[in-house]
Amino acid sequence: MNDRELEKLIKEVEGMTGTELADWIKRQRETMITAKDLAIRPCNVAVNGTCPVCGERTDPACGPELFVRGTFDAVCHECGERLNPALMRNLNRLAALANDYYLGKCDLATLAQLPQLGG
Ligand SMILES: [Zn+2]
Repeated sequence: MNDRELEKLIKEVEGMTGTELADWIKRQRETMITAKDLAIRPCNVAVNGTCPVCGERTDPACGPELFVRGTFDAVCHECGERLNPALMRNLNRLAALANDYYLGKCDLATLAQLPQLGG
């Protein structure tokens, strides 16, 4: 970011109240992270923090979860639904199957038939 861009940014936020600034930051995050930046990947560690899109607290479950591609930055499911509903349908299906496998209701052959989901 150069000085001119920084100056423009400062002008944009000048005089905003705390609430307006929080909304502005939220909008900036939403425009930075798009549907193609999201990916399903296994969550096998206790990661929680804030959603990089909306800034709300996240509490991802163990098993398949939604992240910013190539990171362990967990994205909340509300943002996932808004940004990439098709990916969220895959995530929900995969999470249900993983749970079934855990409970002994399906086998590895069934899981192997799943399409590649990317990550
Ligand atoms: Zn979010």
